[in-house]
Amino acid sequence: MIDTLRLTAYEAADLLRTKEISGVELWEAYRRAIDERDGDLHCFLHVCDDPGGDGIPLAVKDVIGTKGIPTTAGSKILEGYVPVYDSTVVRRAKEGHGLRVLGKTNTDEFAMGSSTENSAFGPSHNPWDPSRVPGGSGGGSAAAVSAGLAPWALGSDTGGSIKQPSALCGNVGLRPTYGTVSRYGVIAFASSLDQVGPVARNVRDCAFLYSVIAGRDECDTTTVELPHPVELPEADDLRGMRIGVPKELNEAEGIEPGVAAAVRAAIERLEELGAEVGECELPLSVEYGMPCYYLIAPAEASSNLARYDGVRYGHRADAAERYEMYTRTRDEGFGDEPKRRILVGTYALSAGYYDAYYGQAQKVRTVIKREHDALFESFDALVSPTSPTVAFPLGARTADPIAMYLSDLLTIPSCMAGLPGLNVPCGLSEGLPVGLQLVGPQFAENTLFRIGHALEQAIGFDPVPERLR
Ligand code: GLN
Repeated sequence: MIDTLRLTAYEAADLLRTKEISGVELWEAYRRAIDERDGDLHCFLHVCDDPGGDGIPLAVKDVIGTKGIPTTAGSKILEGYVPVYDSTVVRRAKEGHGLRVLGKTNTDEFAMGSSTENSAFGPSHNPWDPSRVPGGSGGGSAAAVSAGLAPWALGSDTGGSIKQPSALCGNVGLRPTYGTVSRYGVIAFASSLDQVGPVARNVRDCAFLYSVIAGRDECDTTTVELPHPVELPEADDLRGMRIGVPKELNEAEGIEPGVAAAVRAAIERLEELGAEVGECELPLSVEYGMPCYYLIAPAEASSNLARYDGVRYGHRADAAERYEMYTRTRDEGFGDEPKRRILVGTYALSAGYYDAYYGQAQKVRTVIKREHDALFESFDALVSPTSPTVAFPLGARTADPIAMYLSDLLTIPSCMAGLPGLNVPCGLSEGLPVGLQLVGPQFAENTLFRIGHALEQAIGFDPVPERLR
């Protein structure tokens, strides 16, 4: 029997190599898990047929283009769209390692949200407690991994959409350094922030999947070659590691006491493992990160979403006249959150306002980057909670967009600075997972994997939701 709730991708690869199981058996095991549990959890928008072969199955967030497989970005406006080519990340997964796309996972519409409740196809549910959200926007990927419906998954992160759902579902998620992973074939939300990254059951699997997708791609001119190869973490001590605890990220208003306590205990573990831990400050980044993000992200989204006009992709409204067709398509096809952002973004970019809003926010972004860079002169990584709260009940924040936006208060500053961030589960509060965020300087993924792995070994967090054990 294959226990998909516990099997890591690394172990699956071993079983395949030694021929203890076949590729078909492995695929069937995940399909059975999906049939059994996805009716309640709704992690998948589309489940694929086995393309054959002996590769490990991979779940893919539905903003990532897959040849011949429907790709909707959680939006009605892309219903029926089937890409004619693979995104580079999916091509690499298939060609390099024979990975097989198991299905497309649920997401807030165009990755705009923190709970999957903005998906046009209905929300996903948290495997730890289905009355709660799995986080977002990549809640489908995180919930699928946590419920044993996939060994690992790809997500995308603009302001926290890999890190925050991983925190709420109790798995490991990496938002890579901006520019290390290709965005070619990925449906754009905010191009200067979007990054694809891995979600997995442990740090090693996460590091391995990152090594599969990372590196320069000639189809995306913003990508670079990694300065050093990805190292799968081995070490279990952290001697010589300097870890900073930014006050503003650890004491922000709204951090639940149970979350703060679990993170504090994990920081003590880091010290026991030999790391040098010191306090530090990130005042400007935490104060201005959110407001600047909510100018830059909608501004870029308003530009990226202009292409959905009913002519080229997906949904087209019936109309006698062309202009009416555009407007009706967009009115029917986009949900409230994309519309809200298109309005805000278009306003911020309009003539006369550009310098005051988008231009100004980009300058503040440089300040945020410098504030982080200064800390990395004294520290190898920074630590904080990933999400201020554990998974919240479905519906709790849908009426108040600002409350929803605050879910990403702690993940956004480093995203604005283009820095890598890793979520590692560090315990439970009220029976729900608490995630710890490790942020490093550009290209410091190996450092984050090393710290995350050592912490994971020390804590021994059980990633299987209690109700499924
Ligand atoms: N929740 C944030 C937003 O709504 C971040 C989303 C993301 O990273 N894609 O924009």
